[in-house]
Amino acid sequence: MEHIDLHMHSTCSDGTDRPEELGPIAASLGITTIALTDHDTMAGHEACQRGCDAAGVRFVPGIEISADPGRPRGNCHILGYFVDANADHLQEICRVQGLARAQRADEILELLERAGAPIPMAEVKAVAGESEIGRPHIAAVLVEHGFAKDITDAFQKYIGIHGSAYIRKDAILPAQAIEAIHQAGGLAVIAHPIQMRYNDQQDLYERLLDLKDMGLDGVEVYHASHREEHQALYLQMAKELNLLISGGSDYHGTRKNIQMGACKVPTNVYQQLADSVKD
Ligand code: AMP
Ligand code: MN
Ligand code: MN
Ligand code: MN
Repeated sequence: MEHIDLHMHSTCSDGTDRPEELGPIAASLGITTIALTDHDTMAGHEACQRGCDAAGVRFVPGIEISADPGRPRGNCHILGYFVDANADHLQEICRVQGLARAQRADEILELLERAGAPIPMAEVKAVAGESEIGRPHIAAVLVEHGFAKDITDAFQKYIGIHGSAYIRKDAILPAQAIEAIHQAGGLAVIAHPIQMRYNDQQDLYERLLDLKDMGLDGVEVYHASHREEHQALYLQMAKELNLLISGGSDYHGTRKNIQMGACKVPTNVYQQLADSVKD
């Protein structure tokens, strides 16, 4: 059966596979279409496209932008699909987000030191490589130093939302992210709605309506962190709001326990997105 996967990360953000490796991995798993959606960067597009071309896999150039959730808990990640990596506004957002990430990394390391878990910035930078620093890179160093038993533990104890060294990162607003994605010729899709942490369905519906007013095009209905009842709910909301649907595994290589293609996404999802971007 044909498989598609429209959400994954490379070493250009916090994944562990190089962007050129993703296409061949997809081909080996029978996945015919992938989108590279690194956090706040499009640096991997060219290499991923090359790898996909060689492997006979269809490539969708994407991005995942972290925007201000406007509330103390939950996140607001906005996926862009079919974006042009040379677009001015989106490049500017990536630049601003990169600066915000560097500053936040300094702040997190200070808090970690106070919490009795000092780690050297040089080691965090070495793990991040050419990528901007994300919390999974910091988590890896915390594990190496024995301050946490694994990545999940590092988030729970220190850098996750309830941790002692948690710092938010909210340099840009959702409306700015959506606008920049549109200016780059792309479609804006709200990632993993579960992680916006609305307990009340009506609150979630109203939030999606707000985002639609800002220009949102779609909802990521299928995601590795969504149970079947979530999928059904988000599918229904997307239909009611006349929003497109999308989905993917959120594969991060070995940094997360999720395989590429782990999330079953109906193949017509790709075609509907592709048709809409041409309109
Ligand atoms: P950042 O973009 O620096 O805020 O880091 C967020 C990334 O950390 C997410 O994209 C996930 O890859 C990862 N992450 C977030 N929460 C957890 C968690 N509880 N356990 C493991 N990884 C997580
Ligand atoms: Mn990530
Ligand atoms: Mn995300
Ligand atoms: Mn992601």
